[in-house]
Amino acid sequence: MRPSVILFWFRRDLRFKDNTGLYHALKLAQKLELKVLPIFIFDKMILDKLDDKADRRVDFIHQTITELQNTLTEKGKSLWVHYGHPSEAFEALKKQYQIHSVFTNQDYEPYGINRDAQIATDLAKDKIEFHAYKDQVIFEKSEVTKEDGKPYTVFTPYSRRWKAAWEANTPKLLPSEKGLEYFIDSKPLKIPSLKDMGFEQTDLVVPAKKWKESTVKNYTEQRNFPAKEGGTSHLGMHLRFGTISIRQLALETASINTTYLNELIWRDFYHMILWHFPHVAEGKSFRAQYDFIEWRNNEKEFEAWCNGQTGYPIVDAGMRELNATGFMHNRVRMIVASFLTKHLLIDWRWGEAYFAQKLLDFDFAANNGGWQWASGSGCDAAPYFRVFNPRLQTEKFDKQLQYIRKWIPELDSLSYPKPIVVHEEARVRVLAAYAKALKP
Ligand code: FAD
Repeated sequence: MRPSVILFWFRRDLRFKDNTGLYHALKLAQKLELKVLPIFIFDKMILDKLDDKADRRVDFIHQTITELQNTLTEKGKSLWVHYGHPSEAFEALKKQYQIHSVFTNQDYEPYGINRDAQIATDLAKDKIEFHAYKDQVIFEKSEVTKEDGKPYTVFTPYSRRWKAAWEANTPKLLPSEKGLEYFIDSKPLKIPSLKDMGFEQTDLVVPAKKWKESTVKNYTEQRNFPAKEGGTSHLGMHLRFGTISIRQLALETASINTTYLNELIWRDFYHMILWHFPHVAEGKSFRAQYDFIEWRNNEKEFEAWCNGQTGYPIVDAGMRELNATGFMHNRVRMIVASFLTKHLLIDWRWGEAYFAQKLLDFDFAANNGGWQWASGSGCDAAPYFRVFNPRLQTEKFDKQLQYIRKWIPELDSLSYPKPIVVHEEARVRVLAAYAKALKP
């Protein structure tokens, strides 16, 4: 006889604590006197697209899954892990188990939405229900809208409404970690190794999971200075993979610093934009007219940008930090993105794709939002005629050149390249190109 189970499918929520979908799966198991089988799928559809087989994110997921497994093994339980296509995983599970229902947390990216719709349809054929919960964000979809129910496209009024919703409906933490006894008893099941999946171990340094009191307290004054140790929280990766709960982070920090809370609201904002305006995930500009810009797309210049060899120190320092660590400070992300799109007139989608390969905290909604903001094509974007001047940005945010010297030790030597474009000329060129595309 196949054991009867409720499945809980881990995805971007790799934790036991305050996990909404998991909480509801365990609650139902308790009510129906069933057991929960926790599963994870290393999705070939996603992994096959990663060219670099020393991908720090895959390494991180693998380490995290192993940690979850170790916790379960101590309790005589196990994760069920599959490497392959999700539909294959469910076919295999149906053969081994009598599946009562499947619980998970909502994915907001188009690939995830389509995959879940397909899986839900397949499961429905066997009368198995599929339940996806809000967990990745605080307010989703149409929970924060204008009076007329339409989505906001400007951040400030959205954030006001968001805060009112937060006051009226402050989330509570769910004690999902307390229900692990409702997982099915099992000997430890095998987790495919990185090598089994064609990947390698990396030099990943996992950022601390806990926010620092001093970072959040002094965030407003310190967040723009990339050389400042602890100036920002470095929690992006943990939020991306759900190794910390966004609700817990917001609940703990909201009363300490509203500037920090605002950044967490930007994260919800971009997820909401992606949900309501999925054309941004089809390679299109949020504002259609921006797709008429005639990009120069010079491949040599793009390569110089990627490798931190543009001769603009603040840009090069940022790109070298990204290449070496998978992290780049937000202020510098804005500067390098502006430089690529405006100074080099290279399509923002090239930069978006490069960041997607490299960022530890890569998140489609925030990355696309950030790139469209920088290029001017996004919702609530910087006006296109605002072209960051890298020299002035450096004077403001890295006056002592501490950040720059950290990443460009050869700054004062002849081996450091000369600027690949002249700022004033590039400014005139980009303004003309944008004006041409955007003329009424
Ligand atoms: P902190 O400053 O400590 O902020 C705390 C958290 O708030 C972040 O971890 C993040 O989850 C959220 N947050 C902060 N700023 C933003 C923002 N502008 N938009 C959305 N969420 C925000 N963020 C990503 O999480 N993934 C991306 O792929 C990404 N790509 C970006 C691309 C560009 C071109 C730009 C300009 C910004 C991008 N950001 C992205 C936003 C921001 O740069 C990072 O979230 C931040 O630098 C991460 O560092 P931190 O964890 O120390 O952030």
